Amino acid sequence: MTRTIPIHPSQDPPNPAGLQADGMGCHAGTEAMVAAAKEAGKSEVLDQYARDYPRQPDAGPHDQPQSMCPAFGSLRVGLRMKRTATILSGSACCVYGLTFTSHFYGARRSVGYVPFNSESLVTGKLFEDIRETVHAEADPSKVDTVIIINLCVPTASGVPLQLLPKEINGVRIIGIDVPGFGVPTHAEAKDVLAGAMLKYAREEIMHGPVAAPRAGRGDKPTVALLGEMFPADPVIIGQMLAPMGLAAGPVVPTREWRELYAALDCSVAAAIHPFYTASVREFQAAGRPVVGSAPVGLEGTQDWLQNIGQAAGIAQAQIDLARNQALTQMRGLLMQKPISGRITLSGYEGSELLVGRLLIECGADVRYVGSACPATPWNAHDIEWLKAKGVQVQMRASLEQDLNAMYEYRPQLAIGTTPVVQIAKQNSVPSLYFTNLISARPLMGVAGAGSLVQVVQAAMGNQARFNAMKEFFGDVGAGHAAGVWESVPKDRPEFKAETRRQLDKLLKKRKAEEMGS
Ligand code: SF4
Repeated sequence: MTRTIPIHPSQDPPNPAGLQADGMGCHAGTEAMVAAAKEAGKSEVLDQYARDYPRQPDAGPHDQPQSMCPAFGSLRVGLRMKRTATILSGSACCVYGLTFTSHFYGARRSVGYVPFNSESLVTGKLFEDIRETVHAEADPSKVDTVIIINLCVPTASGVPLQLLPKEINGVRIIGIDVPGFGVPTHAEAKDVLAGAMLKYAREEIMHGPVAAPRAGRGDKPTVALLGEMFPADPVIIGQMLAPMGLAAGPVVPTREWRELYAALDCSVAAAIHPFYTASVREFQAAGRPVVGSAPVGLEGTQDWLQNIGQAAGIAQAQIDLARNQALTQMRGLLMQKPISGRITLSGYEGSELLVGRLLIECGADVRYVGSACPATPWNAHDIEWLKAKGVQVQMRASLEQDLNAMYEYRPQLAIGTTPVVQIAKQNSVPSLYFTNLISARPLMGVAGAGSLVQVVQAAMGNQARFNAMKEFFGDVGAGHAAGVWESVPKDRPEFKAETRRQLDKLLKKRKAEEMGS
C-alpha cells in the first residue's frame, strides 16, 4: 500500500545557511556584488560599464531585463575567432550553463575553465592559477590570442586580470570582466570583447605595420559593419554601396584577428547594431565617423545611404545614384504591402527596431517594439521613426512589459523571446522566436524584405491550426496539472503561499542586515 508522507510547513527559512554561504553568487543581489567588486579594485571598469551599458537601477543579474547570462555574448565572440583560446573564470554552475549554451549554438571549440574554491579565491591563488593556465595555453603554434573572461564571482572578488602580461611568446593575452551585475545583456557583452580586441588591434597599428587582409587591401574605401548579421547581408550592403564607389568592409565582431585591422582601416563605421558602445569608441579614436541605423525598408535604406555617403565625403550625384538603384529594386515589393495584421515584437538581439521598421514598411500594423538593449545615439533615429508611426517603443524592456503589450494589443502575431512565445502559444496566438527565426535571416535590401515577408505570412497563417488544437485539447494538462500524471494532481496553493512567505521573510532579514551593516 502506498503511503503519503505529510508535509508540514517549516518555521525556518529554506536552507538559510546554504543561501548565505553563496552570498557572492547570483543570490547576493546586484548592489552587494557591485559594492564588493568596487571594494576589490574594479571601480574603474564598473564605472565604464555603467556609462557604456546603463542598466535599470533595481535589476539584478537575472532580471535586467531577463535574458541569458550576459557572459555568453563575450564567450560566443571569442569562440568564433580563428586561432583563439577562450577561457572562463567563474563558478562551476555558471561555466556549465555557458558551455552548454555555446555548444547548443554550434561552437566547434572547447571552452577553457580555471576552477576555484573559496580558499583559492580568498588567498589569491585563483589569479596564480589563471596566470599558469594562460602561459600553458599561449602556444604560438596553436593560437594567436588567449581570451580570459572573469564571470560574476571573480569580478566581485577583484581577480586582477589587468595584471596578466599583454603578450606571451607572441600570443596576445586579453582579460575582460563580464559580470552580470555590470553588463546587462549578452548583446552588450559581445561589445565588451569586440571593443577590447579593437583597442588592442588599434594599439598594434599605432606601433608599426600589421598584417594586411587575407585577400589584400581593396582599392575602394570601405564601410565597416558593426553587429553580427546574416552572411548575405554584407554582400547585399556591398551591392548598395557600389554606385558610390564604396565597398562593404569587415563585420565586427570579426572571425579573424587581421580583420580587426581592416575594420579600423575603413572610411566609415556603420553601427548596424546600436549597442556597440566600446567598439564605436575605438573607431572614433581611430578618426572614423560612425553612422547609425541600417539599410532596411525603403525609407531606412534611403536615409542610410545618404548618411553613409555624406560621412565618406561622396558627391551628392553619386549618393543619388546609389539611392535610386535601391529605390528601383525595393519599390515593387514594398508597394504591395504584403503583410497585413497586427504584430507585437520584442527581443534581446539589438536589431528589434530595424525589424519593426521593415515590418511597417511591408504593411504590418506594428503596435509594440521592445528591446532588452538600451537607447543609444545610434538607434535614436529608429526610435523616433517608430514613435512617429504610433508604435509603443520600450528600450530595456522586461518580460512583463513585453507580455503586457501582447495582452493589450492582442496581435495576430507575437514575435518575441522564448517565454513570450511560450505564453503566446498557450493563448493560441501565432508566434515566432526572434533570435532563431527573425534575426537569423537576411534583413537588408530587397532580399531582407522578401525573406521577412515569407516567414511572417507563414506564421500568421497558422491561426486556424492553433484554434483546432485548442478545441481538441481543451484545458487538459494546464496550470498546476501540466505534465503526464496517473491521476489529476491536486493543487496546493497553501504550500506555494508558505514558500513565498518564507522567502519574503528571508529577503526582509537580508535588507535589514544590509542597512545595519
Ligand atoms: S556569470 Fe552569468 S550565470 Fe553566473 S552569476 Fe553571473 S550572470 Fe549569473
